[in-house]
Amino acid sequence: MKTNNQTFSDLADLQYENSFGQLPEAFYTRLQATPLQNSRLVTVSKSAAELLDLNLSDELKEQLAQVCSGQEALEPFDPLAMVYSGHQFGGYSPQLGDGRGLLLGEVRNSKGEKWDLHLKGAGQTPYSRFGDGRAVLRSCIREYLASEALYHLGIPTTRALCIVTSDTPIYRETEERGSTLLRLAKTHIRFGHFEYFYYTKQHDELKILADHTIEQHFPELTDKENKYSLFFRQVIEKTALLIAKWQVAGFAHGVMNTDNMSILGDTFDFGPYGFQDDFDWHFICNHSDHSGRYAFSKQAEMGYWNCARLAQALLPLMDVKDMQPSLDAYPQLYSDTYKQLMLEKLGLTSEEEEDGELVQKLLQLLHDTHCDYTLFFRALSDYQPDQQNDKLLNLFPDLSAIQPWLKLYAERLKRNLTSDKQRSENMKQVNPKFILRNYLAQQVIEKAEQGDYSELEELMVVLQSPFDEHPDLERFAQQPPEWGRKLEVSCSS
Ligand code: AMP
Ligand code: MG
Repeated sequence: MKTNNQTFSDLADLQYENSFGQLPEAFYTRLQATPLQNSRLVTVSKSAAELLDLNLSDELKEQLAQVCSGQEALEPFDPLAMVYSGHQFGGYSPQLGDGRGLLLGEVRNSKGEKWDLHLKGAGQTPYSRFGDGRAVLRSCIREYLASEALYHLGIPTTRALCIVTSDTPIYRETEERGSTLLRLAKTHIRFGHFEYFYYTKQHDELKILADHTIEQHFPELTDKENKYSLFFRQVIEKTALLIAKWQVAGFAHGVMNTDNMSILGDTFDFGPYGFQDDFDWHFICNHSDHSGRYAFSKQAEMGYWNCARLAQALLPLMDVKDMQPSLDAYPQLYSDTYKQLMLEKLGLTSEEEEDGELVQKLLQLLHDTHCDYTLFFRALSDYQPDQQNDKLLNLFPDLSAIQPWLKLYAERLKRNLTSDKQRSENMKQVNPKFILRNYLAQQVIEKAEQGDYSELEELMVVLQSPFDEHPDLERFAQQPPEWGRKLEVSCSS
């Protein structure tokens, strides 16, 4: 329902661009969203709204709801569904594409930063295959929570501006509500975009895509003679960094297919992801991942495998010898970043030769004792040699499991360059008190499906400042109850 004649574009002070829409038609199909019935706004992320300089007035929220329900076109955009392909669970799928989302367009904020606006759940497109083009409320909430949570943990990710739900019935295992999520991302270009043009032998288009990506996102490389190999190098670096950060946070993506890999190394396409509760090396968050291809312990290797698929797709643009050194650098880039971030979690100010072993021993210990990953590091932040350390020790029913490691740690701390107080403060900046546990997402979803969004808003408070104390919201820092340990999440969303 409109209360006045002002559109979203009138209310938001944004510079509109459409660089992807200016590429040749081989890259997309233009179409409008299919409207949802009786739609309403579920939530808006204030923090994401700041990226677009939005003043979240009632009027603007109303217009946002209209745009996200497909009732109103987002002037002056010409929405489009992108075509791409990709390797899914190791096999090549020749044609994927935006089957249930549309790139509404690109905007630039007052700082000059560019953001893609993508409407997930916008209806069928030529790339929907057998899908209905829709997203249900629970999958929109899962993406919303995860993208905002990862961002506030300092992990590169796409963002989520808002969710709209409706009375349009959507059939999954049961009847659910058609919903949309407005995603913000620096780009929606995936590894799979390059694969599509490579495998369809459209090498001119492949070059156009690479040039476009470089011009838009790596402008400093535009005039370099070896720009493609420098670009590839940066993608490798960003991917290795991203996956190191996932591992350190205990995050499993769940579906690391090449069509879900952002060319800018952002966490992208949230499906059956999961954060570690009790630490398990072999954590498989995706119930449909029967072989454990994307298990937690395999993510770094899968990231490399995906980079190799990208390398293959870029072959028409450069020689193997210009790519191989970058690929070869991935394992070291990954492990150096991982180690450095883990040392920060331990509060160590410099690196010693045996620190890698200290980390490995700890992870093995957490795995063997099924210790809660997040609670452990938060409690370790308060560790004081020669004190009781009850909070930490209470995490271990059998103290003999942790004591030998703590002895090594206490020895190591003697050579650390900070006071215990300073170390504790530093550690609390990198060891979150709050993470997006699966059971918390589930509780929020169950309430939201009944029309109660209060738990969603409260959970967002802690996810937006996960390193701070929130005495009134301690309940979000608890380990999962029994029912919350065995939740199954699969691709059906
Ligand atoms: P995903 O598993 O979300 O990465 O999606 C893989 C492919 O399936 C992509 O091309 C999606 O656009 C498409 N897809 C996923 N869900 C749907 C749906 N409900 N309707 C149409 N296409 C979908
Ligand atoms: Mg996908």
